[in-house]
Amino acid sequence: MSTELHGTPVADKIRSGIVEKMAMCRMKGVEPMIAIVRVGDRPDDVAYEIQVRRSCEKIGFSYKVFAFPEDITQARFEVEFSIINADPTIHGILLFRPLPARLDEAYLTSLVDPEKDIDCMNPENLSRLFVGREDAFPPCTSEAVVEILKYYKVPLEGANAVVVNRSMVLGKPLALLLLKENATVTICHSRTKDLPKITREADIVVSGVGKARYFDKTCFSEKNTIIDVGINFIDGKMTGDVDPNAAEVAAAVTPVPGGVGSVTSTILLRHAVDSAWRKANG
Ligand code: NAP
Repeated sequence: MSTELHGTPVADKIRSGIVEKMAMCRMKGVEPMIAIVRVGDRPDDVAYEIQVRRSCEKIGFSYKVFAFPEDITQARFEVEFSIINADPTIHGILLFRPLPARLDEAYLTSLVDPEKDIDCMNPENLSRLFVGREDAFPPCTSEAVVEILKYYKVPLEGANAVVVNRSMVLGKPLALLLLKENATVTICHSRTKDLPKITREADIVVSGVGKARYFDKTCFSEKNTIIDVGINFIDGKMTGDVDPNAAEVAAAVTPVPGGVGSVTSTILLRHAVDSAWRKANG
């Protein structure tokens, strides 16, 4: 049976670093603050908002929620958003996406102040990541994957890492983060040929296809450390992309729930406190 790589101890360790830095910010007269910006009441947005609020409340991290009606106009939202963006007491902005189709999401995300862009919405942050700048805020999920691997001391240098996802929130930025750790990275997607052969031969497999139990044990081998990023539901029960029978063959696997998701929202707070700390140091 494979080892379960739980997210909770990883999140706890990150959280203690955040608490220390919050205290350092306060000593310099800066109260770290996150703005949670939501348009409409999509259930997944509301669920994520509750998760982020709980993460904040657990450690006394200040936040403000800005909830706008589903039918807000582009012009009105731009005005409201620019006020939040310019507010000097706010250090990180989380804007739930996708925005309603009437709103120009690409334009709006490009407005986010890169210093407050804690969830990597503005392409400016991705370009910082691409060129290896230390002040980049990578998308939280991709960073959570690397944090879990490091916490459990999974060797990254020279490792063959296969990422099954090429989205801008996961696969592409994660490839850059893994390259930074000197892994050899292969990105796979829906047109990849003979995917199970590629995953079986990898040291690390990151799955983010968004299909419940898509990968069964035939896709894995005893070499694999599997990081399951997928969030899917079967009869209302959350499940990952990886079938539980993978645990019979792989070396290690993250559970869903209780794996990557529990680390992701903590990374968001770390980005916000880092932003506040930069501000505190002017
Ligand atoms: P996405 O944009 O839909 O990307 C899915 C990726 O999977 C695409 O690259 C797609 O390939 C690939 N794919 C789909 N079917 C495939 C198949 N049969 N074989 C190989 N590759 C396949 O989704 P996303 O926003 O990146 O999210 C991915 C998953 O992660 C979702 O389940 C989401 O809920 C979850 N997620 C989890 C967290 C967390 O904190 N745990 C955070 C964010 C997202 P193509 O590019 O060829 O279409």
